[in-house]
Amino acid sequence: MKDRVLYIVIPCYNEEEVLQETTKQLKEKMNSLIQKKKISKDSKVMYVNDGSKDKTWELIEKIHKQDSLFTGIGLSRNRGHQNALLAGLMTAKERADVIISMDADLQDDINAIDEMLDKHQEGYDVVYGVRSARKKDSFFKRTTAEGFYKFMKVLGVDCIYNHADYRLATKRVLEELERYKEVNLFLRGMFPLIGFSSTVVYYERKERFAGESKYPLKKMLNFAWDGITSFSIKPLRFICILGFIVLFISIGIMIYSLIRHFTGNTVSGWTFLSISIWFIGGLQLTSIGIIGEYIGKVYSETKARPRFIIEKDLEETYEKVHKTK
Ligand code: UDP
Ligand code: MG
Repeated sequence: MKDRVLYIVIPCYNEEEVLQETTKQLKEKMNSLIQKKKISKDSKVMYVNDGSKDKTWELIEKIHKQDSLFTGIGLSRNRGHQNALLAGLMTAKERADVIISMDADLQDDINAIDEMLDKHQEGYDVVYGVRSARKKDSFFKRTTAEGFYKFMKVLGVDCIYNHADYRLATKRVLEELERYKEVNLFLRGMFPLIGFSSTVVYYERKERFAGESKYPLKKMLNFAWDGITSFSIKPLRFICILGFIVLFISIGIMIYSLIRHFTGNTVSGWTFLSISIWFIGGLQLTSIGIIGEYIGKVYSETKARPRFIIEKDLEETYEKVHKTK
């Protein structure tokens, strides 16, 4: 079997402080993998410059000139981690058989790459890197991140617990990913949606060795919000349920108010007002909820996600055979 071509895709935003060290470590890793014949010598590391404001791009150019093991593409402006990653994946899939995505700061242990490649050899199309321990993350980051994964589960989103964007995917998986035209990207939710056989490898998440996080709280919250609203219409359904609950309560209020009314100790007009407020409130919420249900449908239609993906076909050669006849 011909050795597989591996591309490692790394989005970089203002990463001049870490790029040299990352390059050094990845060079060692890639060369040892090539030597062990685990990957072809055409394999490369692809940096994606996400419109950095510092010297990141100049550095990528320099690294590429020194060593053709490293290559790069640059976005026209900063578009955020997910878009930069997608740009890299879509470019890399044209040139490679397997693609691994990771961050520039090497927080994800590069030694897990060996195991990922072994899993690919065993026949898996997607290998998720999962953080076994987050001791090095701050208490705040750890609890909010883990809480988020649990919350996504409650909302019915198929998400791999404690998996970020450190993953291996084969060319054919990324070709299917290309069919997902949505603009609000939440890649870690899209891969489970695509399917194919997948597995996980565990690694310990390290500290960022230089520079600071490019995901400040505001970006993190935005990202979490994108994840929820791009994958779940449950919040809309929640309005409907709330409406029904309020309508139900309004029946109770009605009975209570009428009893008070007929036993006499009420101010005039109170019965009418209290019943109206609850009933109209419930009615409005239910109506908004019903509109929400339709908006939810419109929303999933506009995403135009593929309805199915065929993984295997016993007669894959059918057309070829019949055309040559
Ligand atoms: N990143 C990017 N564009 C952005 C923000 C971040 O390409 O707008 C990249 C960044 O260079 C890094 C990765 O996304 O390679 C993850 O960012 P970071 O390590 O700062 O996030 P954290 O590990 O703190 O969640
Ligand atoms: Mg990081």
